[in-house]
Amino acid sequence: MKPAPFHYEKPASLDAVFSLLDKHGDNARILAGGQSLLATLNMRLSAPDLLIDITGLDTLRGIAVDGGFLRIGALTTHAEVKGSADVAMHAPLLAQVMPFIAHPAIRNRGTFGGSLAHADPAAELPACMLALDAEMEIAGASGKRSVRAADFFRGLYETDLKPGEVLISVAIPVLSAGYRSGFSEFSRRSGDFAMAGLAAHAKFENGVLSDVRLAYCGVDIRAVRAAAAERVLDGKPLNANLLDEAKARLADDLDPPDDLQASGKMKIHLSQVLLGRVLSAMSSASEA
Ligand SMILES: Cc1cc2nc3c(=O)[nH]c(=O)nc-3n(C[C@H](O)[C@H](O)[C@H](O)COP(=O)(O)OP(=O)(O)OC[C@H]3O[C@@H](n4cnc5c(N)ncnc54)[C@H](O)[C@@H]3O)c2cc1C
Repeated sequence: MKPAPFHYEKPASLDAVFSLLDKHGDNARILAGGQSLLATLNMRLSAPDLLIDITGLDTLRGIAVDGGFLRIGALTTHAEVKGSADVAMHAPLLAQVMPFIAHPAIRNRGTFGGSLAHADPAAELPACMLALDAEMEIAGASGKRSVRAADFFRGLYETDLKPGEVLISVAIPVLSAGYRSGFSEFSRRSGDFAMAGLAAHAKFENGVLSDVRLAYCGVDIRAVRAAAAERVLDGKPLNANLLDEAKARLADDLDPPDDLQASGKMKIHLSQVLLGRVLSAMSSASEA
């Protein structure tokens, strides 16, 4: 199918973006990498009058380490994140997750900010943002604000972005001593969205876990933390019994709806398998 007719603007400044958003309201949509938006236009799931192409705003690109944070500009592509030495050193979870996101052609155009603003429940990056306790940096005509990832992802394709606002960057605390991350997922084919995925981050000290963060994608209407399982693991030495107890608590944390790929019950099972795999890999890495 072809999209409904639309107008196109490519502003040269953020202020120009804000004034277009203000003028056109709900009839305008921001265009970044286009890897999700163009599919929805082609399928006529949305039909905005105006696309505001923000790819000319170079201030929204790039990766920098600054004051204890790794800052990733919203227009930084998945491929750039995947190839970044700073990301590998300061947020290795993102380096691990990138090969799971789509295929090289899509990673070359799709943007970090576009994925987070789109908030697909099966996308990997929102779960990583929860696990890393990232801050979403947002700008609008009235100024800038920051929102923690825990408050940003609100529902199915729904975020805390207000009309007229743009996600400009993400600030991720750099990896602290003793912390380890891990990611794994189940998908039907390599590069597909996750049927269930787990991004985990925790401190390992003499085999004892603390500050455990388990964030799942593909099992709810948005990325979710597994708080009950985290509590089981926190402050205790990781062993097979503890892992079994944490897996059992996932049934309290997660209530996946049945979908075309798997029943909710199957997704709980997959989430439990992921917990075992990811924590075992993190545990071996910490002893290396
Ligand atoms: C075949 C295929 C497979 C894919 N597989 C995966 C996968 O396995 N995992 C995965 O996570 N993703 C996957 N994707 C999606 C891909 O990661 C996209 O890059 C991403 O979802 C959207 O990024 P984008 O830059 O293309 O955004 P766009 O498509 O341009 O925009 C998406 C939405 O976000 C809004 N938006 C974009 N940027 C901003 C901003 N800075 N501020 C405010 N709003 C903004 C747009 O208005 C639009 O509503 C896949 C895509 C395709 C086509």
